[in-house]
Amino acid sequence: MLYVVLAIVLICCIVLAVSAAQKSKKGGPPPQNPQTPTYAQMRGAAGEAAVAEALGESEEGVRYVFSDYLTAWEHCSAEIDHILVEERGVFVIETKTYAGKIYGAEGTRDWTCVTQNGQMHTFYNPLMQSRKHAEVIRRLLPKAVPVYALAVFADGDLSALNCPFVFSLPLLKKAIASFPAGKLDGKEIAGVARGLKEAEGGITREEHTERVKRRTRMIEMGVCPMCGCPLERHGKTFRCSAYPKCKFVKKD
Ligand SMILES: [Zn+2]
Repeated sequence: MLYVVLAIVLICCIVLAVSAAQKSKKGGPPPQNPQTPTYAQMRGAAGEAAVAEALGESEEGVRYVFSDYLTAWEHCSAEIDHILVEERGVFVIETKTYAGKIYGAEGTRDWTCVTQNGQMHTFYNPLMQSRKHAEVIRRLLPKAVPVYALAVFADGDLSALNCPFVFSLPLLKKAIASFPAGKLDGKEIAGVARGLKEAEGGITREEHTERVKRRTRMIEMGVCPMCGCPLERHGKTFRCSAYPKCKFVKKD
């Protein structure tokens, strides 16, 4: 009798399993995961991981490393690849990962990467990007704290590049060591790190991406992303027409 019951249970299980399999087939192929990273994103993540490794672990009162630092204020937000806090000051680091030869200069907005098979890719000057991020960080900290903007290439050929504060990964630590030492003591280092931690977050990565897109769209339309008033051009700068009530300024 027991065998009969067991056999019936087993048959029921098989029937259920087969029908479940058929049901999932009826729905067609499994939906593509929208979060699946692209090749470029995976390369970028690998580059950022390599830079994080080069920067090392945080050490209480000595050095603090922040990676993928996200902060939000008013209508703005910023995502910073890496921040290093140590006795020399605060280093804001923009990381790039490109396989090819890099062309660009300190004052040029668009830089180019030329791959071995001659493909060209243009990207925003990473030092300019880093300097914008450094401005964000400066606003969070006491004025006396030195904040430096750097950019690092996890790979790529920088032999054609002549730009200060931009380094290849193997030279990053040496470059940081060349800045004047002894600017912050242990207490100050810990205080700076605490300030950065307090200002971290307040927004999700998705919200940040949405904000960046919305802001770009509004500026393209000539509208202030902070208050919605029209933007006015002043030389190379776009300024909100509601200035000084609204302080939005965008340097081209
Ligand atoms: Zn405005």
